[in-house]
Amino acid sequence: MTNLSYPPKRVLMGPGPSDVHSRVLQAMARPTVGHLDPYFVELMDDTKRLLKYAFKTDNELTFPVSAPGSAGMETCFANLIEQGDKVIVLQNGVFGGRMKENVVRMGGECILQETPWGEAVQPSALEELLNDHDDVKIVAFVHAETSTGALSDAQALSKVAHKFGCLVIVDTVTSLAGSELLVDEWELDAVYSGSQKCLSCTPGISPVTFSQRAINKIKSRKTPCQSWFLDLNLVMGYWGEASKRSYHHTAPVNALYGFHESLVMLHEEGLENSWKRHIEMHEKLIAGLESIGLKALVKKQDRIPQLNAVLFDSAIDEAAIRTKLLNQYDLEIGAGLGPFAGKIWRIGLMGTSASLSNVNHCINSLKSLLP
Ligand SMILES: *Cc1c(COP(=O)(O)O)cnc(C)c1O
Repeated sequence: MTNLSYPPKRVLMGPGPSDVHSRVLQAMARPTVGHLDPYFVELMDDTKRLLKYAFKTDNELTFPVSAPGSAGMETCFANLIEQGDKVIVLQNGVFGGRMKENVVRMGGECILQETPWGEAVQPSALEELLNDHDDVKIVAFVHAETSTGALSDAQALSKVAHKFGCLVIVDTVTSLAGSELLVDEWELDAVYSGSQKCLSCTPGISPVTFSQRAINKIKSRKTPCQSWFLDLNLVMGYWGEASKRSYHHTAPVNALYGFHESLVMLHEEGLENSWKRHIEMHEKLIAGLESIGLKALVKKQDRIPQLNAVLFDSAIDEAAIRTKLLNQYDLEIGAGLGPFAGKIWRIGLMGTSASLSNVNHCINSLKSLLP
């Protein structure tokens, strides 16, 4: 039987989680303190400061939700949507589908615009839709669609949405720290991300940030947010001003040590350098994949550097190859989802995983297994 105290050492090149640096894991092994301990309050403040750096924002309401990316998503939708609000969701993959599901469950009226999977969402299509529908309150889209590897132009989409007086909710789970993301300059209103993709922390934390426009909408709600746990008015009693913190829920203290460390590491490297490293490794990976006969799914200008969707010969047994990669090379890559199940692999180069040694390991391993 497997000794469950000793997990295998994998190289994580799927759609997340990514390789976690030993500094982050060691940070998580530091002594646990109370979640209102003065030391911890200081760590929370520094976490918020570093998160603002990562998001390129001055938004005061910037903090990590104590739960995975999906909870950051629900935080945005639950707080911004009121019964009957019209919300446009621009879907081009799996995660846009979850946005729609959120809108419906929060009592909103969802107007879904579908773009073929593997393509970026078009600002012109959004403009047409907004011309056709009155009184739309919110536009929601995924910046980097992890299910297909397509990156949409968040700045252009946000501009169109604001022209029509809408707020924008943006999923940046895969883009944060991996691709250019300028929350303030692009005027994004409610933004959520995840700890386990390009921040290379362990899964289970979801950073979020909200603009003043979003806060105004939340403050003018006529009905309370339908989620107690995610209600920003309540959460801010804990994550708001340091002098006034009070108990809301018990923060995952050690997970936040690790999260803080991952943000310190991002700051040390420099955000722009991190974006650059992801592009450089992506280019090396694509060149290597092409040299062994594999092709990228997404057209060049729409590719997410940190998530590479790859087409292969339909005659191969793709699941068997992934199993061999794991068993023989300790290498995890991702399978296709939805319409792309069995048709693509998703090779992640997120955070710590975006390294030359990982690129080489992946190419060499695949080369030895392909017919
Ligand atoms: C991974 C991911 C999520 C969900 O994050 P979890 O931490 O798994 O809940 C949401 N959106 C996108 C684009 C993702 O890649």
